Amino acid sequence: MTARILDGTRIRDQIFAELEMEIARLAAEGIRPGLAAALVGENPASQLYVKSKIAACEQLGLASWMHTPPASITTEQTLRLVRDLNNDNAVDGILIQLPLPKQVDTKRVLEAVDPAKDVDGFHPVSLGHLVSGRPGLVACTPAGCMEILRRNGIVIEGANAVVLGRSDIVGKPMALLLMHANATVTICHSKTRDLPDVVRRADIVVAAMGKPGYVQADWIRPGATVIDVGTNKVTDPKEAEALLRNFPARLEKFREKGAVLVGDVHPDAVNTAGALTPVPGGVGPMTIAMLMSNTVKAARLRRGKAKTDTVQSIAGAR
Ligand code: NAP
Repeated sequence: MTARILDGTRIRDQIFAELEMEIARLAAEGIRPGLAAALVGENPASQLYVKSKIAACEQLGLASWMHTPPASITTEQTLRLVRDLNNDNAVDGILIQLPLPKQVDTKRVLEAVDPAKDVDGFHPVSLGHLVSGRPGLVACTPAGCMEILRRNGIVIEGANAVVLGRSDIVGKPMALLLMHANATVTICHSKTRDLPDVVRRADIVVAAMGKPGYVQADWIRPGATVIDVGTNKVTDPKEAEALLRNFPARLEKFREKGAVLVGDVHPDAVNTAGALTPVPGGVGPMTIAMLMSNTVKAARLRRGKAKTDTVQSIAGAR
């Protein structure tokens, strides 16, 4: 069996096309949704992420601002920036790119963001809405995973779903979204016993551990759906060879570039799963799509506008 590939890039483009219509409707009412990003210091990966988020805003015609304070910034100074953005009516979404420098109290900063502008969905108020199944701003990566499942017609209701990882930004919100969509959910973490046996019972596996190729192909029940959130850069030739032994073209590319992106699920799972997200090109593009969707949603909710977009709310999943 070769798995159906769940192409995140294609769904991102679909969502962008839907958002363009929504943005045009808002423009007709004189509303231009806007996203402000705070990028502290000069972490190259963070710079790349923020640049691609700003580029997506520009592509869709959203307003965007990038604030780039130095790595020496204090907690108080960061809080002042957040307060200014909270008070700026042109800003609908506030994105604090993580990680923040060590001396900055990340929790205090994230909790200072106005929940109405919390497009990352990290604020306790947003999490509270998610727990209670109320509409609100949901963390982008898990929301993107749900869109991949729904738009590919994967049956969630009644399915046994196993989520590998319990982080605040991926595993926990993912498990809640699946539960609200009526899956029977098991959450696994580093202390879970007999992980392969737990995974073997899953109709849907969501892997968000940060461990390249950890989930073996024979842990996947034949025909199951695999959503691979892991984004791991592998540079060790031995590790790359073990992971890509059955993918000569990818191995060749690794030899040319000296690095390859691999998910948390072993690439051989393509021969056991029924459907699977590729890495790259699966969950990654969806995270940006959902950030754009949340910014438009925040613009609408802040002005008391009715919901017209097609990206489903939590309540819509029930
Ligand atoms: P994280 O905060 O490091 O959390 C990892 C989770 O995996 C933890 O809950 C940990 O358990 C669990 N875990 C680690 N080793 C395990 C093992 N051997 N067995 C079972 N569970 C294990 O990571 P994250 O921020 O959620 O990110 C996870 C992955 O997703 C990373 O590769 C990250 O790069 C990727 N990611 C991708 C996107 C995207 O847009 N594509 C977005 C976000 C994250 P404990 O809680 O017990 O420590």
